[in-house]
Amino acid sequence: MNDLFNIQDKVIAITGAAGVLAGGTANYLQSQGAYVVYLDLFQDKVDAAVAEAKKISDKCCGYACNVLDQEALDSVYEKIMTDIGRIDVLINGAGGNMPGATIGPDQDVFDLKIEDYSKVLDLNLKGTVMPTMTFAKAFKKQGFGCVVNFSSMSAAQCLTRVLGYSNAKAAIDNFTKWMATEMANKYGDKVRVVALAPGFFVSHQNRALLINEDGSYTERGQQVINKTPFNRFGEQDEVYGTIHYLLSDAAKFVTGVIVPVDGGFSAFTGV
Ligand code: NAD
Repeated sequence: MNDLFNIQDKVIAITGAAGVLAGGTANYLQSQGAYVVYLDLFQDKVDAAVAEAKKISDKCCGYACNVLDQEALDSVYEKIMTDIGRIDVLINGAGGNMPGATIGPDQDVFDLKIEDYSKVLDLNLKGTVMPTMTFAKAFKKQGFGCVVNFSSMSAAQCLTRVLGYSNAKAAIDNFTKWMATEMANKYGDKVRVVALAPGFFVSHQNRALLINEDGSYTERGQQVINKTPFNRFGEQDEVYGTIHYLLSDAAKFVTGVIVPVDGGFSAFTGV
């Protein structure tokens, strides 16, 4: 039974791997025996992430790689295929919102800056599609592989103020289903594409939106808690098990799904 969850020596490339959820996931998967390739925007962040990861095991390496730079993606793909020889899993962790793309409490939607909106669409949507189109070429060669995308609670239901982020994450849900179907049609049942939809986890991007400096909830933070049956925000390690399951053989008949990890947020109407 344990073999179903065995990820020993799986080669897992993770974008945004210096971040909170993606970085924590990368460390967890490495601790379970996987070989992890840490990818993030800047060399210093990658170096710091890999230095920490080396404390877990030697089964890791890292590269600075902008997920919106096709040349950088191609170069990292070639390095991995030359040095390691295969990619078992791609986790598209790079993403997030940007301050300029959030509609402030004293603004209305017509104040939206379309340039900032576009940047958020690019980072989240193209920043998922482009690495997938690059790294999943290995799956075509190998005949197996798995992509794990990061969706959000803003994809399936309306989350006020974050229009670009919501649009991008909704498109990631669609892309997950689309690519899962395409991969299965072309390459059979050993190539899977899935996504995780985290609920509310406090990160540097959203801390100020959810929590006041004195530790109490902001009005928006309280609204989230009211709609979360578990009555709390998530802890980052609470996404690890679901990702482990999704990329392991335990999920080998699972593709095209978006799995919420949200303390019940998506199940509850709020009333
Ligand atoms: P994070 O902000 O902690 O980390 C994101 C990482 O992506 C950063 O290290 C950043 O340097 C990197 N990055 C940014 N632009 C990049 C680029 N162009 N190329 C490569 N790397 C780039 O975010 P996180 O909390 O780890 O979130 C991971 C994913 O989960 C994101 O897609 C996020 O939208 C999603 N998510 C997070 C939450 C949450 O509550 N934290 C909730 C739902 C979904």
